[in-house]
Amino acid sequence: MSATSARRILAVVTLLALLVLSACTAGPALHVRRIATDQPALSASPTAPSTPPSPTTKPAPGSLDWYVSQVPTFPEAPPPQPVPLPATGVAQFWHRLPTDQKVAFITIDDGGLARPPEVADFIWRAHIPVTMFLNSPAAEEHDVYFRQIVVAGGVVENHTITHTSLAGRSYDRQRHEICGAADKLEALFGKRPTLFRPPFGEHDATTLRAAHDCGAKAVFHWTETVHEGKVRYQTPEKVVQPGDVLLMHFRPALMDDLLAALKAIHRAGLTPALLEDYVR
Ligand SMILES: [Zn+2]
Repeated sequence: MSATSARRILAVVTLLALLVLSACTAGPALHVRRIATDQPALSASPTAPSTPPSPTTKPAPGSLDWYVSQVPTFPEAPPPQPVPLPATGVAQFWHRLPTDQKVAFITIDDGGLARPPEVADFIWRAHIPVTMFLNSPAAEEHDVYFRQIVVAGGVVENHTITHTSLAGRSYDRQRHEICGAADKLEALFGKRPTLFRPPFGEHDATTLRAAHDCGAKAVFHWTETVHEGKVRYQTPEKVVQPGDVLLMHFRPALMDDLLAALKAIHRAGLTPALLEDYVR
């Protein structure tokens, strides 16, 4: 995953900037202990620091160290070749990114239901590239949590304000949901979303126009869902294909879902990559 090296350096710089900022403001501070690529660098809970594994003891199943130990070793990701985007006045819609490169993409949706505390540490330590399609009120209420994942290398994208189905709604209503969330997410995380996922995957031609007008380059459906540690294929191949987009949610079993997605990508001979490196 060499493509993420620069991003990780940027993340460290961002982290340092956040630390300075958090020391200067009355807002919630990030609880960060240290920065080292092979050690846990982030923690949502300052009272429960994770400890590095002893070389003589196996990590307890279900612990953060155990999850990290279960992550397969992937082939090096190829240098990303961004997919051309025609200037059509509407956002591209894709189930699967049209690429032959041996990569697949992990996406995590919503944000309001559950936020397992060790996810940021897991993403950081295992170098997992993730795209988060967030509802803006959940992002605002739990901004520290999602900011920790951004520092770990994740990218925040747009999933509307209210998680309502957009298909059949007026342009103004759809634009309000998409642009309203984009404005809030940009204010919270300092980057305007460039990707959009419609709630329930339900969209129409108006959605693609409104998404474009709100700054989205592409609208993504998905090719696999992952829930409670099980991958469900939505395509006939029943194996992860190059360019596939795996969908999971911020739910209680997210650690298991991330691990299941990584194992499925590895079984297919692919490497996880960051969607934003391919849609620019
Ligand atoms: Zn959703």
